[in-house]
Order: sequence, then C-alpha cells, then structure tokens
Amino acid sequence: LSPLSNATETSEGSELAALVVHQDVTALKEAERLKDEFIGIAAHELRTPVAVLKGYAQMLIRQTTRGRGPELADWQMEALQNIDQATVRLVALTEDLLDVTRLQAGRLHLLCEPGDLIALVRRVVTRLQMTTEQHTLSLHTSLSHLIVEADAQRLEQVLTNVITNAVKYSPQGGPVEIAIEEDSEKKIAQISVRDHGIGIPQEQQPRIFGRFVRAENANAYGITGTGLGLYLCREIIERLGGHIWFESVENEGSTFFLTLPLAEPIETDAIEQQKEAN
Ligand code: ADP
Repeated sequence: LSPLSNATETSEGSELAALVVHQDVTALKEAERLKDEFIGIAAHELRTPVAVLKGYAQMLIRQTTRGRGPELADWQMEALQNIDQATVRLVALTEDLLDVTRLQAGRLHLLCEPGDLIALVRRVVTRLQMTTEQHTLSLHTSLSHLIVEADAQRLEQVLTNVITNAVKYSPQGGPVEIAIEEDSEKKIAQISVRDHGIGIPQEQQPRIFGRFVRAENANAYGITGTGLGLYLCREIIERLGGHIWFESVENEGSTFFLTLPLAEPIETDAIEQQKEAN
C-alpha cells in the first residue's frame, strides 16, 4: 500500500469511528429522553391515587381518634398509621420525580422575593425537631434577621432535605448543628448543617449530587432513599444564585454548606416615594 492509500484508510477509519461514537451518543441521549419521559408520566399518574390513599388514611385516623368511628384495636390503629406514613413518603417521592421532570423541561419556576432567612430556618428546624426524639437540632446565629432574595417555598424544600439527611444518616442519634452567618463583603448568607453520622465515603463524594446517586454505606446501613434530594437541592440553590457543597469523613460525619445572595437593601427614599405614589 502506498502512503497515500494508507492515509485515506486511516481517515476513513477515524470517520467510521466518529460515526459510531455519534450514533452511540445519539442512542444514549434518546434513552435518557425516554427515561425522563417515563419518569414524568409515572409521577403524574401516581399523583392522584397517592393523594386519595393519603386522604382516606388521614380521615380514618381522625375519625377514630375523635371517637366518631368504631373503636379500633391497637394493631389496627398501628396499621393505619403505617399506611399514613408510607403515603407521606410516596407523596414526597412523587413530588421529587415531578420536580426532576420540571427541571429537565425547564418548567421549574422560581418566585424570588426578599424574605427573612433566620425566621425561615427557625421554622424548618422547629418542624423537623418534632419528627425526631433521638436527635437534637440546634440553630446558632448572632443575627436576628437576614434578608435574602429567594423563593421561600423552594428554599424550605432544600433546607428540609439537607437537615432531614443529617438526621437520617445519623442512625445512632446525636446533635445536628445548624448555623447561619452573613458575609457582607460578598453579599451572601451562608448556612451550614453539621452532623456526626455515617459520613460519605471519599470515592463517592464527587458524584453525590448526581441524579439517583446514593453512597454505598447508605445502603449498607439499610437507610432508604432515592438519591434525588441532593440533585434537586443543587439545581434549586444554583438557580437562586447560590452554591451548595459539603465536607465529609466516613464514620465521623458531614457538614453541608449553602450560600444565597442577600437581598439588595431597600432605600428608605424609594419606600417613601412609593408610599407617596400610592
Ligand atoms: P436520598 O434520598 O438517598 O437520601 P439524597 O439525594 O438526599 O438522596 O442524598 C444522596 C446520597 O448522599 C444519600 O443516598 C447518601 O448516600 C448521601 N448523603 C446525603 N446526605 C448525607 C449525610 N448528611 N450523611 C451521610 N450521607 C449523606
């Protein structure tokens, strides 16, 4: 073979390789799209029956505890409460799946307005403390108010997920410390959530914000989850103009950090002008 035909063969070979890679990538993208579409349809279809189950379970519990229905044996009441708790988890799972679909389709809309971060975090901490006796949740801050620009409902979802994880991945119980600080130079608020739980193994840390990603030790401890929460947290926080990251040592614990932009201070003159205009 002449050097020329050799060169042609090589370039044909690389063209063929490029074509195969292209087809592979296209097939992968199509598989991803179908997976997203399936998740969306499944979540949408699950929503109504799950809401019906939850409604009836709660109605039965309410009626029985108010003495309006037939008296139930302890095991029957326990069974009802188990159904109720399972449906609460199903509702949360369905909502997470719907959020993933909304994100993929660019339909997760955020409604940002100035709000007090300290009050919001305090509310979440108080609510979550009621769900556990094994853990002590504490909030540390020297600030009485800190106004951030955010979507309060979505921010509450993120904080709930990170604090719930701190509790869930500390199966032996223990303290969970939440702190809020202000960095006035960078114009950001920083929240940290520290636990003393099972930690995240070093080799799995780089992928932990991925979709459906769970660390091996979570499964080994038999702690249930979907690996969707942190993915959603990062997407939401970054859309709010902030960041989320963590430091973790296996068998020692983890600290998750979140930042958010502070709201622009409102000029008192502007408020006066607005009042006059009204
Ligand atoms: P999950 O539903 O599995 O809890 P997340 O997306 O919230 O999903 O978290 C992803 C994975 O990250 C978890 O499965 C767990 O392996 C790990 N993880 C998250 N938070 C913690 C934590 N505080 N301590 C230890 N592991 C954690």
